[in-house]
Order: sequence, then structure tokens, then C-alpha cells
Amino acid sequence: MSDTRSDHPHLTTVVESAIAGFLADPDRNSLGPGHPEPAWSDFLVGYSRGDDPLYLTLKEVIGDFHWSPAEAFALLYDGFTDSSEETVLPAELTVISWALCQTEATRAANRAETAFPSEHWVRSRLFGQAANVALHHELLDALAARGWAAVAPGVSEEWKEYFAHTDRWASSWSERHVAHVCGLGTFGLCGGLITAKGKAVRLGSLVVRASIPPTPRPYSGPFDHCLYLSRGLCGLCADRCPAGSVDPHGRDKSACLHRLRVVGEEYVRERFGLDGYGCGLCQTGVPCESGLPQP
Ligand code: SF4
Ligand code: SF4
Repeated sequence: MSDTRSDHPHLTTVVESAIAGFLADPDRNSLGPGHPEPAWSDFLVGYSRGDDPLYLTLKEVIGDFHWSPAEAFALLYDGFTDSSEETVLPAELTVISWALCQTEATRAANRAETAFPSEHWVRSRLFGQAANVALHHELLDALAARGWAAVAPGVSEEWKEYFAHTDRWASSWSERHVAHVCGLGTFGLCGGLITAKGKAVRLGSLVVRASIPPTPRPYSGPFDHCLYLSRGLCGLCADRCPAGSVDPHGRDKSACLHRLRVVGEEYVRERFGLDGYGCGLCQTGVPCESGLPQP
């Protein structure tokens, strides 16, 4: 395939229209049964080339188990095998990444909390994330219907978590790192991705066999948007963390996960009668909650 990035703009229109339609549908975008409020209010989309050199650096930053776009496509796309005569080249692929924005109601509810998540936040984590997974599949179907082969690495059965480098959790496809490569944002002190619409977002992505011009990355380093990591200011997400898992060196993922999955699950069951978890205190009540933080 020539390198004309020739599938633009039709493919971007298909993707962005499908996401907008999904979010506009209360049957698909809600906080769960009996709670018709939307889980997500808005979205961002970014695109990167499958051969972007940053994908190779993720094998060093995260671990060699982290898939490149070409590895993910070869592994996950039905009908494509390494043994076929056809070989997919990284340059033939585009990665599509999106951020779904928490509503003001959910952010406000969580802003008011100091120890555990609000019910809004928990519902968003549970039902909003289920909607996000469904959105992945809807986008796959929309692309397939128009002849574009695509995979959704982060919601595939092959996706795995790893306890890498002895002290931190990682996975075979990091939505945050993929979003960073796709121009959606940079990392904050607590590990969240600070996008143009803030850090209170959930992410998703696809790898598609198509050519789209990449979204320009409006930053030069991985921490540019964080006031602490770029200027030594702020640090409020550390103050917001009830587990003490954020300090000047970053986030202790194990302590965070214990708070979410163990302490948080019990609280969520007892308080809200829901079989879920959440926290997100470091994503709300901070200057990067819903936009780029200002010093
Ligand atoms: S709250 Fe402050 S220190 Fe934490 S991620 Fe946001 S800008 Fe960075
Ligand atoms: S999600 Fe909660 S426990 Fe984890 S770093 Fe953020 S505030 Fe701390």
C-alpha cells in the first residue's frame, strides 16, 4: 500500500459519527438500570500511524510483552495469520484512540468525596465502562461493514495484565500509552492521562488496516501537561489520594489497586449494593480534572 494515508477523511467521519451517535443514545450511554443519566458527556479522538516509533519505546517503558500495533493486528484479526502469504506492515495500520469524558454531575459528586468514590463514579466505572466496551464492538462492526479490518486489543480475550518489574502492574495494551501516542495527552503525577478535556476520562482504542494522517501531538514530552512533573507545582492529586499511593515519585500501583479492588469493592457493595469498584479521587477536585491545568 502506498503511504498516501488515503482513507482519510471517510474513516474519521465514520468513527467520530459512530461515537457521537453512541453517546447520544440513552439506551447505550447511561449510569445503569434505573439511572438514565449519561455516563459520558463528550469525547476526543486521536489517530497515530501503526509504525510510529513511540510504539517500539513502549516495549522498554512497559515491557516487551506490550504489543505493537502490528503484533496486535496479527494476533487478533480473524482471517489474518502469520502463515498467510500476506504480511501486514506497520505502516499500513492506524491506531484510533478515544477518550470518553465524565459528566459534570459525576465529577461534582466525586469532587465532594474524600475517602471513597461517589455512586455516580462507581456507576460510571461499572456501566459506563460496559458501554465503552460495547462501543469498541460497535466501531469494529461499523468499520467491517465498510471493508476496514480492525481489532480492539484492550478488550480482546488475549489482553493480559502483568506484574512487571517487581513493583508495578502493566498490560499487553496500555490504553493510556496508546492515547499518548495518538496525541490525546500526557501523564500526570498520579498516572492518569491529562487530555485537553482533563483527566476524568476513560479510554479505548482500535487498530485498523487503513491509512489516516496522524493527529499532531501538541507536546514534546510525556509529562508536559502535569504542573508537578513539568514545573514542580501543584501535587494536589497526591493530597486527594486516600491510600497515600501518590508521592513525588508517582503512583504506587499496588497500593492504588488494593484501595480500588479490595477496600473499595467492599465499600461499594455495602454502600451502594453494586458489584463494582472505583475511586477516581485523584481525577477530581484537581486542576487537571476537566481541562489542561493552569499554573
Ligand atoms: S493534580 Fe496537579 S500534580 Fe496531579 S496530575 Fe494534575 S496537574 Fe499533575
Ligand atoms: S485511584 Fe484512588 S487510590 Fe488510586 S491513586 Fe487515585 S486517589 Fe489514589
